[in-house]
Amino acid sequence: MARIDDVDQIDVAAVNSRQHRSLYKARESIHPMRVAGVFRRLKWWIMGVLLGIYYITPWLRWDRGEGMPDQAVLVDLEHRRFFFFFIEIWPQEFYYVAGLLIMAGIGLFLVTSVLGRAWCGYACPQTVWVDLYVHVERWLEGDRNARFRLDKAPWNAAKIRKRVTKYLIWLLIAVATGGAWVFYFADAPTLLVQLVTLDASMIAYVTVAVLTATTFVFGGFMREQVCTYMCPWPRIQAAMMDENSLTVTYQDWRGEPRGRHRKSADASLLGDCIDCNQCVAVCPMGIDIRDGQQLECINCALCIDACNTVMARTGGKLDLISYTTLKSYEANADGRPTLPLKKTIFRTTTLVYVVRRSSLRFGVLLCVLSRFRLSAPLPLHRLHVEIRRGRTSQFVQLSDGRIRHVFTVKILSVAGTERRVLLQLGDLPGGLMNVVGQDEWPSRTKEFVLPADKVLQLRIFVSAPVEELSPGANSFRFSVTDLSGIEQAHYGAIFKAPEE
Ligand code: SF4
Ligand code: SF4
Repeated sequence: MARIDDVDQIDVAAVNSRQHRSLYKARESIHPMRVAGVFRRLKWWIMGVLLGIYYITPWLRWDRGEGMPDQAVLVDLEHRRFFFFFIEIWPQEFYYVAGLLIMAGIGLFLVTSVLGRAWCGYACPQTVWVDLYVHVERWLEGDRNARFRLDKAPWNAAKIRKRVTKYLIWLLIAVATGGAWVFYFADAPTLLVQLVTLDASMIAYVTVAVLTATTFVFGGFMREQVCTYMCPWPRIQAAMMDENSLTVTYQDWRGEPRGRHRKSADASLLGDCIDCNQCVAVCPMGIDIRDGQQLECINCALCIDACNTVMARTGGKLDLISYTTLKSYEANADGRPTLPLKKTIFRTTTLVYVVRRSSLRFGVLLCVLSRFRLSAPLPLHRLHVEIRRGRTSQFVQLSDGRIRHVFTVKILSVAGTERRVLLQLGDLPGGLMNVVGQDEWPSRTKEFVLPADKVLQLRIFVSAPVEELSPGANSFRFSVTDLSGIEQAHYGAIFKAPEE
């Protein structure tokens, strides 16, 4: 006989099971149909350009002179620097990158506030790669209906052959994608040889493997689920859109009541939508735009192409589905005049973004022009010097009466070759220096060899006769001169003397 506890457990299990069934919905395969039209062509172009940029960029060369890498775009992790054609950024200049990233972010806000989810629909890597994968699938397995039929068909030689070929091509694309990524972090031709000859580092193989797996799974199997469940951007962008943002919209005031326009029926009772479901069939997200705005909609506009094709064929009015703002949609529905497109684009929100972005761009541009090094063989600003006074004591008075301070001097040469530099003391009467632990003989100048792309760090004693110093703080300078005559820089420092 069942005890009360057992009965409770059985009931809870049954309820849980029922809830489980009602809350979980298995994914239904989405096989978007082929479609032609303006937006599909635009997507092909954008996809071609973006994939071209991604795969080709690491193979572009850029001459930066002797000892410097000749890869146009390179994240040189070993030497902690980034090359982008004529631009070279070191860690101490990372604020430029931060500026550029903020500018790109504001640019994206601007695009979203005007064009809605244009990023999702056209340029997001997930969209681009899924589009490519679907294209391969369609090429091998046929259009929408053929793919559904193949899904349901029993496994036979033809199905196995098609599926294996598809997975192999997907895998090739995934490997090329993962491979292209690591080429941005090392000399691409060298790394390719190393990868093939199993001579590359473990981190390179792991990175390629992870990116291959994610591309294969996200592009081939998860597809729209990445956008709907994993990506935070659809939620964030809602904050940037308003009633003047363009979104793909079904003009239900025109389309409803939908229905087949049969000759026998009174077509005047029906709206423009002939319920052909072509807009649903082409949708890569598997939704019906006629149900209104939905989180899943990536604004790819393929349903516009599909509906316009149907309308053109049946002699209906185009743009039953179109890019429309909420304001225009409401005005159209009420028969009021709509706001001109110009005014929906140039409104307060977008102007704020433009002003913010422009001021930022101006600031970044000034920094770029003033500090980024053009890739001449030995350009200016290739010496970075940092000088710090020792913190342990203010000064030491030596037995001969001289006052002594210790300074830490860091000199970084970004020329890519070994260089000779002269360190000099200036504006410090009777001042002498010697390198701690290296030379015994104080002098006003010291010569050093700077290794290529390395920081030379020195601790330096600087001393001066007390009678030559003013009480308290004395300003003086270190000068660093490139002995090849290319560059000289001065760095101010403070030498403290007794107050009386
Ligand atoms: S509803 Fe239209 S715009 Fe939205 S994802 Fe589907 S096809 Fe693209
Ligand atoms: S494609 Fe156009 S006509 Fe056909 S169902 Fe969709 S909205 Fe209606």
